[in-house]
Amino acid sequence: MFKLTAVLEKGVYAKSPDGIVKINAKATLLCTGGVGHSAELIEKQGWSTKNLHYCSMPSNTGDGYKMAMAAGAKDMLVESPEFMMNYIMALPHEGVHLYIDPINGFMSLPSGGPTVFVDQDGRRFVNENAKKYNLLYQRMAMQSVKNAYEVFNQDIYDRITVGIPDADKVLAQAVETNEGDSLYKEDNLEDLAKHFDLPQDVLTKTLNDYNKFARQGKDEEFAKDSDNLIPMEEGPYYIARLDPSNLIGVGGIGSNRKFEAIDPNFNTIPGLYVAGMDSTMQYRNVYTITLGGSACAHNVNSGRHAAMNAKDYIASLG
Ligand SMILES: Cc1cc2nc3c(=O)[nH]c(=O)nc-3n(C[C@H](O)[C@H](O)[C@H](O)COP(=O)(O)OP(=O)(O)OC[C@H]3O[C@@H](n4cnc5c(N)ncnc54)[C@H](O)[C@@H]3O)c2cc1C
Repeated sequence: MFKLTAVLEKGVYAKSPDGIVKINAKATLLCTGGVGHSAELIEKQGWSTKNLHYCSMPSNTGDGYKMAMAAGAKDMLVESPEFMMNYIMALPHEGVHLYIDPINGFMSLPSGGPTVFVDQDGRRFVNENAKKYNLLYQRMAMQSVKNAYEVFNQDIYDRITVGIPDADKVLAQAVETNEGDSLYKEDNLEDLAKHFDLPQDVLTKTLNDYNKFARQGKDEEFAKDSDNLIPMEEGPYYIARLDPSNLIGVGGIGSNRKFEAIDPNFNTIPGLYVAGMDSTMQYRNVYTITLGGSACAHNVNSGRHAAMNAKDYIASLG
C-alpha cells in the first residue's frame, strides 16, 4: 500500500511500509477524492469548522490538492464548493450517515422549512426554505453570521417529523442530555433567548413579526413561500444552535478539457492529470446538486478521459 506524498515532473514520491519510494512515470494522474476531510482546507474555502461533523471519507484529506499546488497548479480552492449542511449537536449524529438521518439530516429539521433561523442578534437573516432551490443553500447564509440558531415550537416539530417513530422521545432525550449545550426547551420566547445570550426584546419581536407574516400569508422580510409560513403562537418552544456537517469537497485544482493540470496562466503542466473530486470544477462556489448525476458522472468520465489522454501523451514522447 502506497500513500502518495509528492508529484514530480516524472513520477511521484510515496510512503510504503518500507519507507519512502520514488516511482518514475512519464505521466501522473491525481485522483485523491478532494478536500472534504481536511479542516485546514475547508477553512481556506471560507467555512468555519467549529463543531464540524464529518460525513466525508477520512481518506479525502486533500493530498491531491496539496501535491498539485506544490507542482505549480492553478489554485481554485476558494472557488470550489463544499457539500455543507446543518445539524444539531444534541440530536443523534453518529457517523457518515447523519446526512440521511430522518430528524437531524440534510432534508429534515436543521435544514429549515417552516422553522425560523436567527443570528447572534436574534434577527432573521435568510429565507429558511432556501433549500427548496438547492439543498446546499441551507448552510451558505450561515457564512455571513457569527452564529446561527433555529427556533421552532412543538407544532412545527410534529409537522416536520410526522410518521417518524419515536420522534418525540428523540427530542425529549436530546433536550435532556443536550450534547454541546446546543438545544433548549422553554414555555416562552423570553426564556428561550437567555440560553444563547440573544437580546430578549429582539428575539420576541422577530417571532411576533414572523407570526404576523404567517397570518397574512406574506413574508415581508425574506419572501418565504406561504406553505412554509406557519405561525408559532403556542409553546413549548425550542431553540437549537445550527452547526456544520459536510459530505464532500468538490474540486480545487485547475485543469483543462483534457484533464491536464494547468498553471495560473492556463498553461498545461506536462504529464500531470487530475480526475474525480480533485478536479470537479464545473461548479463555482455552490454545488448545484439539483442537476442529478453531474458530479458522479464527472468522476467516472474524468478518470477515463484523463487516463486515455495520459496514454496519448506518453506515446507522443516517443
Ligand atoms: C457518505 C457519502 C455519500 C455519498 N453519496 C453520494 C451519492 O449518493 N451520489 C453521488 O453522486 N455521490 C455521492 N457521494 C460522493 C461520491 O462518493 C464521491 O464524489 C466519489 O466517490 C468521488 O470519487 P473520487 O474517485 O474522486 O474519490 P474517492 O472515491 O474518494 O477515491 C479517492 C481515493 O484516493 C485515495 N487517496 C487519497 N489520498 C491518497 C494518497 N495520498 N495516496 C494514495 N491514495 C490516496 C483514497 O483512499 C481513495 O481510495 C457520497 C460521498 C459520501 C462520503
